[in-house]
Amino acid sequence: MNIHEYQAKELFKEFGIAIPNGVAVKSENEFDSAIASLNGDLIVVKSQIHAGGRGKGTFVDGFQGGVKLASKAEAAGIAKKMLGNTLVTKQTGPAGRQVGTVYFTEASDIAKEYYLSLLIDRSTGKVAIIASTAGGMDIEKVAEETPEQIMKMIVDADIGLQPFQVRKLGFFLGFGAKELMKQWTAIIKGLYKLFWTKDCSMVEVNPLILTEDNRILALDAKVSFDDNALFRHPEILELRDPHEEDPKEIEASKFGLNYIALDGNIACMVNGAGLAMSTMDIIKHFGGNPANFLDVGGGANEEAITQAFNILLKDKNVKGILVNIFGGIMRCDVIAAGVIAAVKNVGLTLPLVVRLEGTNVEIGRKMLAESGIKLTTADSLADAAEKIVKIVAEENK
Ligand code: ADP
Ligand code: MG
Repeated sequence: MNIHEYQAKELFKEFGIAIPNGVAVKSENEFDSAIASLNGDLIVVKSQIHAGGRGKGTFVDGFQGGVKLASKAEAAGIAKKMLGNTLVTKQTGPAGRQVGTVYFTEASDIAKEYYLSLLIDRSTGKVAIIASTAGGMDIEKVAEETPEQIMKMIVDADIGLQPFQVRKLGFFLGFGAKELMKQWTAIIKGLYKLFWTKDCSMVEVNPLILTEDNRILALDAKVSFDDNALFRHPEILELRDPHEEDPKEIEASKFGLNYIALDGNIACMVNGAGLAMSTMDIIKHFGGNPANFLDVGGGANEEAITQAFNILLKDKNVKGILVNIFGGIMRCDVIAAGVIAAVKNVGLTLPLVVRLEGTNVEIGRKMLAESGIKLTTADSLADAAEKIVKIVAEENK
């Protein structure tokens, strides 16, 4: 789960990580008081969407920049252009994201920009801190072209972030002076504590800055949480912004289904993430395009399968459905009963190909054959994918 910059910065404050003052507002009539409450003459007006690259983004009506420096007099006018408008950045895709909140912050005098992030390092299974003196840049590009500008530090979970690691990173970034090292220590310790106690999957500060008057501040904040740990953090769940998520994905998560919307026209209903991936691959192999990733899980019952059909059918691009279920712990007859009931419940009219394999498969197939519902059965994964791709292609010629 992702949150907005202004929410991430509230967490930063809680953990003692220095940020510029700021106020987030959701309606125009709050603009003036928000701007008046900030110090200095210059304000940075920031569109709040769950995507980076806002500074270089463009709104659908042509207005340039989702992050803009302005005088106090101009700030409200700029915010008016952003609020309710749709911002397209490198990370949003062409449809962009609608701005529902504008964040006003005090502008900082930037002497130098840095990159800093904490994430789970998959090769070691530990938290990694990535720091770079090339701030404000695309970090993947820096890693490729000038890897010497990046330091990666792995933190051992049992002993936590060690003082020598803090100093090593600090010297690397050029914070060797006593006063800077003190500020740096507070920031990196705070970030590590935030990451650890809130079960984050990533915390990114791009840029971290040094100001002309020698203060180290987090100017941007991107925080993502491990969905599997959210049950431990009701306070984080409250930060969820449903406008930033696909309503179908939220609906699916209520029923324990793993659903990710894609832009093809063949809906897939599969049990197990690995099988779901290979089903998508093989649909592609036969020239089709999957409309989604859907893992109904190992213990899918009739209700879950009915809900899964409902969710798939909310996607108006869907022209056919492929059900590919392996009955391991689950028996195929139970799955067949679920599919039959679900198809009748939702009144399915789209072409449906079903491939069942595993325990009690013969009984399951017989049930499907005798159910009277219109479907095509398949014997293997390849057979199933080939059939649904062909049917959908023919019906939509
Ligand atoms: P994004 O990464 O989505 O483009 P940022 O918050 O990083 O958004 O803002 C883009 C750029 O705007 C930053 O790299 C920085 O140069 C500038 N900026 C952002 N906030 C401030 C601020 N408070 N003071 C001065 N400059 C800022
Ligand atoms: Mg940024």
